[in-house]
Amino acid sequence: MRKINSNGYAGRVILVGLSLIVLGLVLRAMRKRSILPMPLLVVYAPLAIGSVVLLGFGVLLGVELWQDKRLNRYYLGRKRTRIVLENGQYECQSCGYRDTRNMENACPACGAKFVSE
Ligand SMILES: [Zn+2]
Repeated sequence: MRKINSNGYAGRVILVGLSLIVLGLVLRAMRKRSILPMPLLVVYAPLAIGSVVLLGFGVLLGVELWQDKRLNRYYLGRKRTRIVLENGQYECQSCGYRDTRNMENACPACGAKFVSE
């Protein structure tokens, strides 16, 4: 499963969705007051598209939050472990300190005592 990360574009998607809904509401008000006569499709298309964008993004955000929760649970279960790096040293999974050596039983940076997996 690919990790979803909407940090970079979430604000833009929400802005587009809300703008379309506001545009639809303004067009609807103008049509109702006979300021600007236009077909019904022109009025309701932005409302429908904006709603679909926001609902779709809401579903995507829900999946992302579920993934984050699952990954967080996975790493919390491995806090007191270390992984071997390419240079032969180890990385503490509690704090990310990368200069841990094989003979050390605890992380020199955060003091987490390592347990074998
Ligand atoms: Zn550490």
